[in-house]
Amino acid sequence: MSVIVVGSTALDSIKTPKSSNPRLLGGSASHACVAASFFSDTSLIGIVGKDFPARYLNLYRKHQINLDALQIVPGKTFHWSGEYEVNMNNRRTLATELGVFETFSPELPKSLQKVPYVLLANIAPALQSHVLDQMRKPKFVIADTMDLWLNIAMDDLLKLLRRVDAFVLNDSEARQLTNDDNLPTAIRKIHRLGPKYVIIKKGEHGSLLSSPKGLFLAPAYPLQKVVDPTGAGDSFVGGLIGYLASRPGSVDTNLRRAIVHGSAVASFCCEGFGLNTTTKTTRQAIVKRVKELEKLVQF
Ligand code: AMP
Repeated sequence: MSVIVVGSTALDSIKTPKSSNPRLLGGSASHACVAASFFSDTSLIGIVGKDFPARYLNLYRKHQINLDALQIVPGKTFHWSGEYEVNMNNRRTLATELGVFETFSPELPKSLQKVPYVLLANIAPALQSHVLDQMRKPKFVIADTMDLWLNIAMDDLLKLLRRVDAFVLNDSEARQLTNDDNLPTAIRKIHRLGPKYVIIKKGEHGSLLSSPKGLFLAPAYPLQKVVDPTGAGDSFVGGLIGYLASRPGSVDTNLRRAIVHGSAVASFCCEGFGLNTTTKTTRQAIVKRVKELEKLVQF
């Protein structure tokens, strides 16, 4: 089955203590679409300016990502830049230049309105809702977010949460959203806001799913070296929904395995700048890491 992803389509300039990498392909939707494409037909909803390099469009195409709902308009592509500290966990945003995002109104062609699996990747919650308004009876809707929206668009986010099946956020965002330092109680509070499934990302410490089947802990793949974690969360949720859409059976049956597939894809993302390593990996390499992760938690 197929997946539709809305989110940011960006040029990212990423600084680490060791190097500077200007204008890489980035954005939550780019990372998520490439990750999902290893498992399912994937369509991208986004906007870029005329400055968006043709080689990045080709990269989407190499992954067979459907670009019918990618708007290419006069103006500048969304540009984000960030800088990592030596530990590669703490990140500072240096600049966010909205460019063509300022006037973005995602419109879906009819052919995409019946896609069953919907990923509302990180973008303003009002835009996520606008996409959801256009979908016809999707089978599974998952939303991601970031601290910015908790700070400036809480009402929109709360409206969205009533309408999604699953919500994924990182541990600090869960604490901020609920005003609760204890994760299990924070999770309970998030369920009350609407989502049946809550997935908390904990970076290098993996993730935690809360569902009607109870709690599930998934490890992160233990990497010897992290080159650039930008987009790891987006790759995680992209791999997750791509895998889910590729499996017969219910979400409840497949979600745990889907999360582990998301972890495996995210690990490739962290091994190179931007999408450099993710785009070079294969489904077989991802599945190999899933098997290693499986062994890691058997006892
Ligand atoms: P992550 O590392 O998972 O937090 O995601 C990083 C990606 O988020 C980068 O590729 C950025 O282009 C994108 N991003 C940063 N700020 C925003 C924003 N305000 N809205 C949407 N996407 C953003």
